[in-house]
Amino acid sequence: MRKLPLLFVLAALAVLLIIIKSDLNAFDDYRQKRQRMVENDIRGRGIKDKRVLDAMSRIERHLFVDKGLMHRAYEDNPLPIDEGQTISQPYVVALMTEALRLKPTDRVLEIGTGSGYQAAVLAEIASEVYTIEIRKKLVEKSENLLKSLGYRNIKVKHADGYFGWEEHGPFDAIIVTASANHIPPPLIRQLKEGGSLIIPLGSTVYFQTLTLATKKKGELDVLQMTSVAFVPMTGEVQKKK
Ligand code: SAH
Repeated sequence: MRKLPLLFVLAALAVLLIIIKSDLNAFDDYRQKRQRMVENDIRGRGIKDKRVLDAMSRIERHLFVDKGLMHRAYEDNPLPIDEGQTISQPYVVALMTEALRLKPTDRVLEIGTGSGYQAAVLAEIASEVYTIEIRKKLVEKSENLLKSLGYRNIKVKHADGYFGWEEHGPFDAIIVTASANHIPPPLIRQLKEGGSLIIPLGSTVYFQTLTLATKKKGELDVLQMTSVAFVPMTGEVQKKK
C-alpha cells in the first residue's frame, strides 16, 4: 500500500521531466532557427545595423503567428495572420527598420500593427512606439501579446492610421506597413524636421515601391528603395487619389 503512492510520484516526476525537456528542446530549436534567419536572410543580405540584428535575434517571432504556423515563423517570407492580413517577411522588417536610422531616444509611429512583430522590433531600438491598427481583433490580440511580453513602451490604438496620432506627435520616424497610393498628408505633418517616413507606395495589390521620405526644410526628400508586396491600407486612403 505504501509503495503505490511512491511509484505514482516517481512516474509523475518522470512525465514532468519529459515534458520540460521537450519544451526546452523546442525552445532551442526556435533559437537555432532564429539565429540562422538572422545570419542568412538578414545579415547575409546586407543589413548591417547591429541594433536591428540584435533585436531580431532576441524577439521570438514564432509567438506572433498562430500555433499551426510556428514551425514556419523563421522562414524568409510573409505569413498569414488573422483577418486575411500578413506578418511581413523578416528581411523586409529589417530593411525598413534599418532605413529609419533610429536613435535610442526616438519616438516612432507605426501604421498597421498587424501581429505586433514590427512594433516589438521598433520598441527594442527606439524609446517609444505608437502603433495604429484598423481591425479591432488584431488590436486586441497584438496588444495582449505585447503586454505579456513586457513591452511597456508600445501603445496600440484602434483607428484609421491615415490621420496619424496627433496628440503624441510629432514623431522622429513613421513606418507604414500597408500599401497606399499616396502618403497621407496628416502623417507628413506629424513627422519632425529631419525625420524619415517609410511606406510601400503603389496602386496595385501585387507590388509597390518601398519609399523612404525624409523631411528637409519642410519638404520631402524621396528615395525609392525596392519592390515589395504589402496588403493594402484601407479606410480614408482609398477614398482619395
Ligand atoms: N506590421 C505588421 C504587419 C502589417 S499587415 C506586423 O508586423 O505584423 C498590415 C496591417 O495594416 C493589417 O493588420 C491591416 O489591418 C492594417 N491596416 C490597413 N489599413 C489600415 C489603416 N488605415 N490604419 C491602420 N491599420 C491599417
